[in-house]
Amino acid sequence: MSALKFTLEHESENAVSGTRPRAGVVRLKSAVDSSSAGDANGSVSDASCDTAKEFVIHTPQFMPVGTLGTVKALTVDELKTAGAEIILGNTYHLYLRPGHKRVEKLGELQKFMAWDGPILTDSGGFQVFSLAGLNKIDDEGVTFQSHIDGSYHRFTPELSMEIQRSLGSQIVMAFDQCPPYPATKDQVRAAMSRTLNWAKRGLKVPLKAHQARFGIFQGGLYEDLRIESASQICSLEYDGFAIGGLSIGETPDLMQAMTRVAAPLLPKDKPRYLMGVGRPEDLVEGVAAGVDLFDCVMPTRNARNGQLFTSLGKVNIKNARYADDSGPLDPNCECDTCRRYSRAYLRHLFVCGEILSARLNTLHNISYYLKLMRDMRKAIFENRFDEWRENFYRLQKSG
Ligand SMILES: [Zn+2]
Repeated sequence: MSALKFTLEHESENAVSGTRPRAGVVRLKSAVDSSSAGDANGSVSDASCDTAKEFVIHTPQFMPVGTLGTVKALTVDELKTAGAEIILGNTYHLYLRPGHKRVEKLGELQKFMAWDGPILTDSGGFQVFSLAGLNKIDDEGVTFQSHIDGSYHRFTPELSMEIQRSLGSQIVMAFDQCPPYPATKDQVRAAMSRTLNWAKRGLKVPLKAHQARFGIFQGGLYEDLRIESASQICSLEYDGFAIGGLSIGETPDLMQAMTRVAAPLLPKDKPRYLMGVGRPEDLVEGVAAGVDLFDCVMPTRNARNGQLFTSLGKVNIKNARYADDSGPLDPNCECDTCRRYSRAYLRHLFVCGEILSARLNTLHNISYYLKLMRDMRKAIFENRFDEWRENFYRLQKSG
């Protein structure tokens, strides 16, 4: 039995842009026995998937980012209450600290962080290019310096698969090369061909029985290269596909326009993932284009900086205008932050640098993002996505 099963439940017309927002279900497996699923020498579990617990993800869905084995400031119970169905872990960070072999010995990432749900791990590639110190790329892989202590390391497509195998995530991402923005057509073409080569090499590395794989295609902002890269990557045996190389510095308009080109290039019967996107309006436009999965650090990172997303638009909680505001942060949100605390109190906590500020702000932002996805899914089923989208923008401007 396959490690991933995708069912496209409903596809609706989106008259505004001519694209097709869609709703579906992704089914994933747990490791059969997390205490013995992977041993210290990295051998592959041969346990049957048939007795594994099944995880169900309703799409479109947003995946909160748990960089270092934690979605910053939240407990796993709070994540569940907020409605999280799947979270993301970062290969680069977990490889450096605490080390993937250690995580595996401790029962893989799910058990290590006590998260009773599925996890998607990225390949580490994006962080190696964007976060690490000096990096040197060649056809075989990338040599880089740790951002923590400057030590030298080397990632290859094979090692990325081995690390993600040790972490035991349900969805393993292919190791790709994301060209910078802006990039010339030749640079993008070179990254595309390396990405294809690495996607093929990664497929040769065996994973555990419960692990599914996603391929990533590139092509920058060049429509013809997107078409070429999508057809190359989608010819390979992956369980789902991701649109890579967007939200890396281009304007939101360009990113959204390329999403409308890119999403329909992917097979209808497999999940589509738009990596690293984005703001609430980017999620709305992504869903409109037919994307199923999203991730972004924005709701968690911005929460810690006092920037809160609400159904009535953005709230910068440190603003003096909230000092005497006894109303809830978002009257349309049912999270604990909005049900129990006032804007004035949230502002006070932020201004004083209280730890609770980061916790309550993050809880709200994540709850808001996840409810936004649920609302869109409902609107798709009810064939009123266009109407819902208009109302979303109207409310965003009303705050
Ligand atoms: Zn809230």
